[in-house]
Amino acid sequence: MVQNDKKKKKKREGSDAVITLDRVSKSYSSGSPALDNVSLTIKKGEFVFIVGDSGSGKSTLIKLLLRELTPTSGRVIVNGADVARLKRRQVPKFRRNLGIVFQDFRLLNDRNVYENVAFAQRVIQMPTKLMRKNVPNALAEVGLAGKYKAKTKQLSGGEQQRVALARALVNEPPILLADEPTGNLDPKNSWEIMKLLERINEERGTTILVVTHNREIVNEMKKRVITMKKGVVISDEEKGGYIDED
Ligand code: ADP
Ligand code: MG
Repeated sequence: MVQNDKKKKKKREGSDAVITLDRVSKSYSSGSPALDNVSLTIKKGEFVFIVGDSGSGKSTLIKLLLRELTPTSGRVIVNGADVARLKRRQVPKFRRNLGIVFQDFRLLNDRNVYENVAFAQRVIQMPTKLMRKNVPNALAEVGLAGKYKAKTKQLSGGEQQRVALARALVNEPPILLADEPTGNLDPKNSWEIMKLLERINEERGTTILVVTHNREIVNEMKKRVITMKKGVVISDEEKGGYIDED
């Protein structure tokens, strides 16, 4: 692409967009689509909640961003990459842009805390010397510096999720995706995780997308809130709240 076209393209997408969905639909089978013609833009450094009933397409959206899935139609652009067009061999490098946290932590339960975080650094072949700085830094950032030797099974749910968060952040990805990260946590630990995410967003400028059902937290934090229903974005508000229906 010549330079000029590149510039035009950037302008069209919004130069600071890190995530763009352009008329994206995703169908799993012949029934109604899980995502139905969704368009949205998320800018660098935003903190966005995605809310909506179970089955409204939130996880499908996250999987499209991760390229676990490709859209049935439309385009998904993440950090400048048209995700569906990536070749299989390009996917691992693409995923380095993305930190990901799930509801069920997904830790390696036969390894200790340090090894769970170090694992992410080994995958990208971080030199050992740097890894020995980065892993303790990431653990300190989530408040677990003293627990690096613990087996993950010995930790509370809140602590396990903080290990998962350290693992997601240790490679310093520009984008963090969290699919119901507090779904298995009590209110106190839920708040701690959300406050950590907020701090990371503010201090590092990491773009953060959080899928959640936590009404109270969404209402208090006053972030951008995208509400989905049956595969469609029904509301998208700056400093939004949880929409009460029924
Ligand atoms: P949410 O995360 O908001 O609960 P999902 O994205 O998981 O919603 O699901 C959206 C819709 O797609 C639901 O109707 C769900 O049953 C369907 N769906 C999700 N994953 C699959 C799959 N692997 N195969 C078939 N249907 C699926
Ligand atoms: Mg889901």
